[in-house]
Amino acid sequence: MFIFRSMDEVLAKKLRILADAAKYDASCSSSGAPKRAAGKDGLGSTTGSGICHAYTPDGRCISLLKILLTNWCLFDCAYCINRRSSNVARAKFTVEEVVALTLNFYKRNYIEGLFLSSGIIKSPDHTMELLTRVAKSLRRDHGFAGYIHLKSIPEASPWLVEEAGLYADRLSINVELPTEASLERLAPEKDGAAIQGAMAQIGERIVQAKAERRRFAPAGHSTQVIVGADDTTDAALITKSEVLYGSVGLKRVYYSAFSPIPDGSRILPLKAPPLAREHRLYQADWLLRYYSFSAEEVASASEDGMLALDIDPKLAWALKNRERFPVDVNKADREMLLRVPGLGARAVDKIVKARRHMTLRLDDVARLTSSLKRARPFLVAADYRPVALTDRLDLRQRLVEPAQQLSLF
Ligand code: SF4
Repeated sequence: MFIFRSMDEVLAKKLRILADAAKYDASCSSSGAPKRAAGKDGLGSTTGSGICHAYTPDGRCISLLKILLTNWCLFDCAYCINRRSSNVARAKFTVEEVVALTLNFYKRNYIEGLFLSSGIIKSPDHTMELLTRVAKSLRRDHGFAGYIHLKSIPEASPWLVEEAGLYADRLSINVELPTEASLERLAPEKDGAAIQGAMAQIGERIVQAKAERRRFAPAGHSTQVIVGADDTTDAALITKSEVLYGSVGLKRVYYSAFSPIPDGSRILPLKAPPLAREHRLYQADWLLRYYSFSAEEVASASEDGMLALDIDPKLAWALKNRERFPVDVNKADREMLLRVPGLGARAVDKIVKARRHMTLRLDDVARLTSSLKRARPFLVAADYRPVALTDRLDLRQRLVEPAQQLSLF
């Protein structure tokens, strides 16, 4: 690739290995980073929204250098290509090398920030210290004002995490597996309680720092869970997310479909789960965060704990709770309108605003949402009432999305 051309060969080789090793981590979106511009002698700036190969609201794709400090690791998590027993090429950057690469790529406009994770070497504290030194050097020695996302090591000492939060925009700790039983089976060296404790510590520091108007991971903290590496159900995954959002103040949970790794452990499945499953989990997560659904409600519309793949979870819930519909767009409260399939939060807000001045007819609703076809069977307008849902046994069939069109609600 062109970025390797002018690079020393040893460094280029490390970069190939450690960038490839980092690709399995999905938790790198930066949504929520504060706007920041570099000072006179500084370098870099962030925009108000995402980095890490994410799309900003204005449609720009922005990128970051996503690497591991090292892919050596003391642990032997079965699902991880970097596990101790894995037969992969290994490499380790020095702190100075990561700093130089970040600055170099930034100056060439290849990246707008850094996502840095690492295998655990020597000890969790030693690893966390190295990660923090990268961020500290970028900020302190080079005035770097670009985005920095550091993966935090759960077992590291609290004071090290405290220091990391001074320099990083976002910190994250991957839960990976939501139950103790899964951890026991696939990552026995990981400690679920320690992971949750470390996340709680970060959550508390963020709240505290905000109240005291000081800097600590201003873009919040996030986590990743692996989907399909074992028989954990979607209901268990969503329930875990709900607990984490409520108890440790997470900004985001990322769902990463397990992908079989070369030379994988025999206890892992041979096939990746359908990508649609990951998509449905993101939709269910959206319902928790923005549509006032509980994990229990979402799960109640699943079958054996698995979300339907052919319809989105909001539609699945509506079909399971037909007696709650149709909803009158002129009278229903916002919370119930949000439950109408096809009506997104923005459309609901427009409806609530518009009905202060007029009585809405179906045509008016059509102007306020782009998904009237999906919403129609579930709502009542001044001039419209659908056939009772209980009489529409074919409804699910009619509302199934074409496979290639797995849009939001
Ligand atoms: S601790 Fe992290 S890097 Fe090490 S094997 Fe487990 S998942 Fe992989």
